[in-house]
Amino acid sequence: MSAFTCRACGSSRVPLILSLGRTPLANALLSADDLSIEEDTYPLDLVFCEDCTLVQITETVPPERLFSDYAYFSSFSDTMLEHARGIVGRLVRERGLGPNSLAVEIASNDGYLLQYYVQAGVAVLGIEPAANIARTAEEKGVRTVVDFFGEPLASRLRAEGVRADVLHANNVMAHVPDLPGFARGLHAILAERGRAVIEVPYVRDLIDKREFDTIYHEHLSYFSLTAMHRLFARHGLSVVDVERLPIHGGSLRVTVAHAGEPISAAVEQLLAEEERDGLTRLEFYTRFAKAVEDLRHSLTALLADLRAKNQRIAAYGAAAKGSTLLNFCAIGTDVLEFVVDRSPHKQGKYMPGVRLPIAAPSKLMEARPDYVLLLTWNFAEEILAQQAPFRDLGGRFIVPIPDVRVV
Ligand code: ZN
Repeated sequence: MSAFTCRACGSSRVPLILSLGRTPLANALLSADDLSIEEDTYPLDLVFCEDCTLVQITETVPPERLFSDYAYFSSFSDTMLEHARGIVGRLVRERGLGPNSLAVEIASNDGYLLQYYVQAGVAVLGIEPAANIARTAEEKGVRTVVDFFGEPLASRLRAEGVRADVLHANNVMAHVPDLPGFARGLHAILAERGRAVIEVPYVRDLIDKREFDTIYHEHLSYFSLTAMHRLFARHGLSVVDVERLPIHGGSLRVTVAHAGEPISAAVEQLLAEEERDGLTRLEFYTRFAKAVEDLRHSLTALLADLRAKNQRIAAYGAAAKGSTLLNFCAIGTDVLEFVVDRSPHKQGKYMPGVRLPIAAPSKLMEARPDYVLLLTWNFAEEILAQQAPFRDLGGRFIVPIPDVRVV
């Protein structure tokens, strides 16, 4: 770890904030055949850059090992589709986009977002590394390049004349190993007056709401506005607007333009707030380690107490965050009977590390556990509503984050 340098600025002043130990890859679900094999594990250590303020993990798992995870992202929740439709409608109006404009999305998946530009008559270009998912997008009329976004692809697209009037990158920057290359790529394909709209989980929400389970190997960086502002400023770009969003437990939506474009008051305000509240200093983050330890203790104590009373417990949501939480808290088959998940790709498989079997949500009504640990707490409202019939029969949910509560 001594050799680790900041992914954004190259500094070697990167003290440790929190270690979650060695864990398997959070999205690497196991098939029944895999259960006889020991899984690979990797250190999960969170550090803070004292020069540019970026919070990041030290381990970079090679992308080809993570690549298969994309298969699970193809089914979007209703909440996320509504979110995508909303931002597209707003940008089409605000930026006056039409048939001569171009909307680009990095990690465009199955075209879940760009489809709304197609409907509005705006030309689109998706960039998506997974060929099978890109094919689904093409079937919806979303033109898609199968590749990873970075400086090499951006230069090639620029040479072909691609200039993005709007460019979206939702939940992609956290996964980028080469942040300077990403910024240079953005600079290359953003039109002169273009706007890049970038959504990232906000490190402030991660810390304030104790969302430690969003730390896993796919997420290399955890951004503050200060860290993004400094990164883009080094590459001829400028953060011109910012909003805080409730999605994914709390996100930042940052608008980036070429340097010299007018900057909204919201940017100056949030930068000042981060400085005032200590997000630019190490102490803000080291307090978090203690809060995470307290949360682990309250959750495992509650579950042990329920088990001692012969209560039967299952879990909901075989997502990566669930894997982090279960492995860090060592909650396995002695406590939970099974996990349910809506994705048919996950059903019949097993959670990494703790090796809990994954079933369809209908299993809750069949097996009737007394309690369900809600691992996908970021969709709590939607899931609790869907599970009304189960709850009407007395089934209760345990929401673990930010504080353990039973509903
Ligand atoms: Zn740095």
